[in-house]
Amino acid sequence: PGALLAAVEVRKAFGATTALAGASLRVDAGEVVALMGPSGSGKSTLLHCLAGIVRPDAGEVHYGPHRLSALSESARSALRRGDFGFVFQFGQLVPELTCAENVALPLRLAGVGRRDARARALAALGRLGVEDVAAKRPGEVSGGQGQRVAVARALVTEPKVVFADEPTGALDSLNGEQVMRLLTEAARETSAAVVLVTHESRVAAYSDREVVLRDGRTTDAAS
Ligand code: ADP
Ligand code: ADP
Repeated sequence: PGALLAAVEVRKAFGATTALAGASLRVDAGEVVALMGPSGSGKSTLLHCLAGIVRPDAGEVHYGPHRLSALSESARSALRRGDFGFVFQFGQLVPELTCAENVALPLRLAGVGRRDARARALAALGRLGVEDVAAKRPGEVSGGQGQRVAVARALVTEPKVVFADEPTGALDSLNGEQVMRLLTEAARETSAAVVLVTHESRVAAYSDREVVLRDGRTTDAAS
Protein backbone atom coordinates (compact mmCIF):
# COMPACT_ATOMS: atom_id res chain seq x y z
CA PRO A 1 0.00 0.00 0.00
CA GLY A 2 1.06 3.56 -0.58
CA ALA A 3 2.88 2.98 -3.88
CA LEU A 4 1.88 5.41 -6.63
CA LEU A 5 2.48 2.87 -9.37
CA ALA A 6 2.94 -0.89 -9.10
CA ALA A 7 3.38 -3.87 -11.39
CA VAL A 8 2.56 -7.23 -9.86
CA GLU A 9 3.83 -10.42 -11.54
CA VAL A 10 3.31 -8.96 -15.01
CA ARG A 11 3.63 -11.30 -17.98
CA LYS A 12 3.64 -10.38 -21.65
CA ALA A 13 4.44 -12.39 -24.77
CA PHE A 14 4.68 -11.25 -28.39
CA GLY A 15 3.90 -14.39 -30.35
CA ALA A 16 6.49 -16.96 -29.33
CA THR A 17 8.69 -14.35 -27.62
CA THR A 18 8.27 -13.93 -23.88
CA ALA A 19 9.05 -10.29 -23.09
CA LEU A 20 7.96 -10.34 -19.43
CA ALA A 21 7.87 -13.53 -17.37
CA GLY A 22 6.72 -12.18 -14.00
CA ALA A 23 7.97 -8.64 -13.40
CA SER A 24 7.08 -6.79 -10.21
CA LEU A 25 7.91 -3.22 -9.27
CA ARG A 26 6.69 -0.43 -6.98
CA VAL A 27 7.26 3.24 -7.61
CA ASP A 28 6.52 5.79 -4.88
CA ALA A 29 5.42 9.37 -5.56
CA GLY A 30 8.41 11.51 -6.51
CA GLU A 31 10.76 8.52 -6.76
CA VAL A 32 13.22 8.14 -9.66
CA VAL A 33 13.56 4.46 -10.62
CA ALA A 34 15.94 3.15 -13.29
CA LEU A 35 15.09 -0.07 -15.14
CA MET A 36 18.34 -1.72 -16.16
CA GLY A 37 19.40 -4.98 -17.77
CA PRO A 38 20.66 -6.30 -21.10
CA SER A 39 19.01 -5.64 -24.45
CA GLY A 40 15.90 -7.79 -24.82
CA SER A 41 15.43 -8.29 -21.06
CA GLY A 42 12.00 -6.60 -21.11
CA LYS A 43 12.74 -3.06 -19.91
CA SER A 44 10.74 -1.23 -22.59
CA THR A 45 7.86 -3.68 -22.36
CA LEU A 46 7.67 -3.18 -18.59
CA LEU A 47 7.70 0.59 -19.09
CA HIS A 48 4.92 0.28 -21.69
CA CYS A 49 2.85 -1.88 -19.28
CA LEU A 50 3.37 0.59 -16.40
CA ALA A 51 2.32 3.47 -18.67
CA GLY A 52 -0.82 1.65 -19.84
CA ILE A 53 0.40 1.49 -23.44
CA VAL A 54 0.69 -2.30 -23.49
CA ARG A 55 -1.84 -4.51 -21.73
CA PRO A 56 -0.23 -7.41 -19.83
CA ASP A 57 -1.31 -11.00 -20.58
CA ALA A 58 -1.32 -11.71 -16.84
CA GLY A 59 -0.56 -9.88 -13.63
CA GLU A 60 -1.70 -6.40 -12.72
CA VAL A 61 -0.66 -2.78 -12.96
CA HIS A 62 -1.97 -0.40 -10.32
CA TYR A 63 -1.82 3.38 -10.57
CA GLY A 64 -3.17 5.09 -7.45
CA PRO A 65 -6.71 3.75 -7.03
CA HIS A 66 -6.86 2.50 -10.63
CA ARG A 67 -6.25 -1.01 -11.85
CA LEU A 68 -4.67 0.08 -15.12
CA SER A 69 -4.72 -3.40 -16.60
CA ALA A 70 -8.54 -3.48 -16.30
CA LEU A 71 -9.31 -0.06 -17.82
CA SER A 72 -10.51 0.43 -21.38
CA GLU A 73 -8.12 1.87 -23.97
CA SER A 74 -9.95 5.22 -23.86
CA ALA A 75 -9.75 5.40 -20.07
CA ARG A 76 -6.04 4.54 -20.15
CA SER A 77 -5.49 7.12 -22.84
CA ALA A 78 -7.21 9.82 -20.74
CA LEU A 79 -5.05 8.85 -17.76
CA ARG A 80 -1.88 9.00 -19.87
CA ARG A 81 -2.77 12.43 -21.16
CA GLY A 82 -3.65 13.80 -17.73
CA ASP A 83 -1.11 12.19 -15.41
CA PHE A 84 1.86 10.92 -17.43
CA GLY A 85 4.68 12.51 -19.42
CA PHE A 86 6.89 10.73 -21.95
CA VAL A 87 10.45 11.14 -23.19
CA PHE A 88 11.85 8.79 -25.82
CA GLN A 89 15.23 8.33 -27.46
CA PHE A 90 14.50 10.44 -30.52
CA GLY A 91 11.99 11.34 -33.22
CA GLN A 92 9.38 12.65 -30.84
CA LEU A 93 9.16 16.34 -31.71
CA VAL A 94 6.81 17.43 -34.48
CA PRO A 95 9.15 18.79 -37.19
CA GLU A 96 6.65 21.32 -38.60
CA LEU A 97 6.10 23.05 -35.25
CA THR A 98 8.50 25.38 -33.43
CA CYS A 99 10.06 24.11 -30.21
CA ALA A 100 7.71 26.33 -28.17
CA GLU A 101 4.70 24.99 -30.08
CA ASN A 102 5.92 21.42 -29.49
CA VAL A 103 6.11 22.04 -25.73
CA ALA A 104 2.71 23.77 -25.72
CA LEU A 105 1.07 20.91 -27.63
CA PRO A 106 0.13 18.65 -24.67
CA LEU A 107 -1.41 21.67 -22.94
CA ARG A 108 -3.38 22.64 -26.06
CA LEU A 109 -4.62 19.02 -26.31
CA ALA A 110 -5.70 19.25 -22.67
CA GLY A 111 -7.79 22.34 -23.51
CA VAL A 112 -5.48 25.05 -22.18
CA GLY A 113 -5.86 28.37 -24.04
CA ARG A 114 -3.28 29.45 -26.57
CA ARG A 115 -1.77 32.33 -24.59
CA ASP A 116 -1.55 30.43 -21.30
CA ALA A 117 -0.11 27.36 -23.07
CA ARG A 118 2.57 29.48 -24.73
CA ALA A 119 3.55 31.15 -21.43
CA ARG A 120 3.83 27.80 -19.68
CA ALA A 121 5.81 26.34 -22.59
CA LEU A 122 8.30 29.22 -22.46
CA ALA A 123 8.65 28.78 -18.68
CA ALA A 124 9.31 25.05 -19.14
CA LEU A 125 11.91 25.75 -21.85
CA GLY A 126 13.53 28.24 -19.45
CA ARG A 127 13.68 25.66 -16.66
CA LEU A 128 15.54 23.33 -19.05
CA GLY A 129 17.87 26.15 -20.15
CA VAL A 130 16.72 26.22 -23.79
CA GLU A 131 14.48 29.32 -23.93
CA ASP A 132 16.61 30.57 -26.84
CA VAL A 133 15.41 27.80 -29.20
CA ALA A 134 11.70 28.59 -28.65
CA ALA A 135 11.16 29.95 -32.18
CA LYS A 136 13.29 27.32 -33.94
CA ARG A 137 12.08 24.09 -35.48
CA PRO A 138 13.45 20.78 -34.15
CA GLY A 139 15.55 20.34 -37.30
CA GLU A 140 17.41 23.57 -36.51
CA VAL A 141 18.60 22.65 -32.99
CA SER A 142 21.29 20.28 -31.69
CA GLY A 143 20.53 16.80 -30.36
CA GLY A 144 21.09 17.91 -26.77
CA GLN A 145 18.85 20.95 -27.21
CA GLY A 146 16.15 18.84 -28.87
CA GLN A 147 16.19 16.36 -26.00
CA ARG A 148 15.86 19.20 -23.48
CA VAL A 149 12.87 20.47 -25.45
CA ALA A 150 11.42 16.93 -25.28
CA VAL A 151 11.92 16.91 -21.48
CA ALA A 152 10.23 20.32 -21.24
CA ARG A 153 7.30 18.94 -23.22
CA ALA A 154 7.06 15.86 -20.94
CA LEU A 155 7.02 18.04 -17.82
CA VAL A 156 4.90 21.00 -18.96
CA THR A 157 1.62 19.39 -17.89
CA GLU A 158 3.10 18.71 -14.41
CA PRO A 159 2.60 14.94 -14.68
CA LYS A 160 2.62 12.59 -11.70
CA VAL A 161 4.91 10.16 -13.56
CA VAL A 162 7.44 10.74 -16.33
CA PHE A 163 8.31 7.67 -18.43
CA ALA A 164 11.70 7.97 -20.12
CA ASP A 165 12.87 5.20 -22.48
CA GLU A 166 16.60 5.61 -23.18
CA PRO A 167 16.24 9.41 -23.05
CA THR A 168 19.98 9.92 -23.50
CA GLY A 169 20.54 7.07 -25.96
CA ALA A 170 21.20 9.38 -28.92
CA LEU A 171 23.40 11.87 -27.01
CA ASP A 172 27.11 12.05 -26.20
CA SER A 173 27.99 11.55 -22.54
CA LEU A 174 28.23 15.26 -21.65
CA ASN A 175 24.82 16.09 -23.14
CA GLY A 176 23.39 12.86 -21.73
CA GLU A 177 24.43 13.78 -18.20
CA GLN A 178 23.07 17.33 -18.59
CA VAL A 179 19.72 16.01 -19.78
CA MET A 180 19.57 13.54 -16.87
CA ARG A 181 20.48 16.23 -14.33
CA LEU A 182 17.85 18.62 -15.73
CA LEU A 183 15.20 15.90 -16.00
CA THR A 184 15.66 14.70 -12.43
CA GLU A 185 15.91 18.25 -11.01
CA ALA A 186 12.76 19.36 -12.82
CA ALA A 187 10.94 16.18 -11.75
CA ARG A 188 11.91 16.80 -8.11
CA GLU A 189 10.65 20.40 -8.30
CA THR A 190 7.22 19.15 -9.31
CA SER A 191 7.36 15.92 -7.21
CA ALA A 192 6.97 13.82 -10.36
CA ALA A 193 8.08 10.20 -10.22
CA VAL A 194 10.37 9.07 -13.05
CA VAL A 195 10.57 5.58 -14.55
CA LEU A 196 13.70 5.48 -16.65
CA VAL A 197 14.92 2.75 -19.02
CA THR A 198 18.66 2.70 -19.58
CA HIS A 199 21.51 0.26 -19.99
CA GLU A 200 24.12 2.82 -18.92
CA SER A 201 25.11 2.96 -15.25
CA ARG A 202 26.19 6.62 -15.49
CA VAL A 203 22.59 7.43 -16.51
CA ALA A 204 21.09 5.18 -13.84
CA ALA A 205 23.28 6.98 -11.29
CA TYR A 206 20.75 9.84 -11.40
CA SER A 207 18.02 7.56 -10.04
CA ASP A 208 17.07 6.87 -6.43
CA ARG A 209 16.87 3.14 -7.10
CA GLU A 210 17.91 0.67 -9.79
CA VAL A 211 15.85 -2.37 -10.73
CA VAL A 212 17.55 -4.97 -12.92
CA LEU A 213 15.65 -7.13 -15.41
CA ARG A 214 16.90 -10.48 -16.66
CA ASP A 215 14.91 -12.62 -19.08
CA GLY A 216 11.69 -10.74 -18.38
CA ARG A 217 11.95 -10.89 -14.60
CA THR A 218 12.78 -8.17 -12.10
CA THR A 219 15.68 -9.28 -9.94
CA ASP A 220 15.51 -6.54 -7.30
CA ALA A 221 14.46 -8.46 -4.18
CA ALA A 222 13.17 -5.26 -2.55
CA SER A 223 10.69 -4.48 -5.31
P1 ADP B 1 14.57 -4.18 -23.72
O1 ADP B 1 13.85 -2.89 -23.58
O2 ADP B 1 15.14 -4.69 -22.43
O3 ADP B 1 15.59 -4.19 -24.80
P2 ADP B 1 12.07 -5.13 -24.82
O4 ADP B 1 11.03 -4.98 -23.77
O5 ADP B 1 12.15 -4.09 -25.89
O6 ADP B 1 13.49 -5.30 -24.10
O7 ADP B 1 11.91 -6.52 -25.52
C1 ADP B 1 11.83 -7.77 -24.81
C2 ADP B 1 11.64 -8.88 -25.82
O8 ADP B 1 10.37 -8.77 -26.41
C3 ADP B 1 12.64 -8.85 -26.96
O9 ADP B 1 12.90 -10.18 -27.35
C4 ADP B 1 11.89 -8.08 -28.04
O10 ADP B 1 12.36 -8.41 -29.32
C5 ADP B 1 10.46 -8.56 -27.82
N1 ADP B 1 9.46 -7.55 -28.22
C6 ADP B 1 9.26 -6.35 -27.63
N2 ADP B 1 8.24 -5.67 -28.21
C7 ADP B 1 7.81 -6.49 -29.21
C8 ADP B 1 6.76 -6.40 -30.17
N3 ADP B 1 5.97 -5.31 -30.26
N4 ADP B 1 6.59 -7.42 -31.03
C9 ADP B 1 7.37 -8.52 -30.95
N5 ADP B 1 8.37 -8.69 -30.06
C10 ADP B 1 8.58 -7.70 -29.20
P1 ADP C 1 14.70 -0.99 -27.33
O1 ADP C 1 15.42 -2.30 -27.35
O2 ADP C 1 15.62 0.20 -27.30
O3 ADP C 1 13.62 -0.92 -26.33
P2 ADP C 1 13.72 -1.76 -29.92
O4 ADP C 1 14.41 -1.15 -31.08
O5 ADP C 1 13.99 -3.16 -29.49
O6 ADP C 1 13.94 -0.76 -28.71
O7 ADP C 1 12.15 -1.64 -30.11
C1 ADP C 1 11.55 -0.49 -30.63
C2 ADP C 1 10.06 -0.73 -30.74
O8 ADP C 1 9.80 -1.92 -31.50
C3 ADP C 1 9.40 -0.97 -29.39
O9 ADP C 1 8.14 -0.31 -29.38
C4 ADP C 1 9.21 -2.47 -29.28
O10 ADP C 1 8.06 -2.79 -28.53
C5 ADP C 1 9.09 -2.88 -30.72
N1 ADP C 1 9.74 -4.17 -30.97
C6 ADP C 1 10.84 -4.65 -30.37
N2 ADP C 1 11.16 -5.87 -30.82
C7 ADP C 1 10.23 -6.17 -31.75
C8 ADP C 1 9.99 -7.30 -32.60
N3 ADP C 1 10.77 -8.38 -32.56
N4 ADP C 1 8.95 -7.25 -33.43
C9 ADP C 1 8.17 -6.20 -33.48
N5 ADP C 1 8.31 -5.10 -32.71
C10 ADP C 1 9.33 -5.09 -31.85
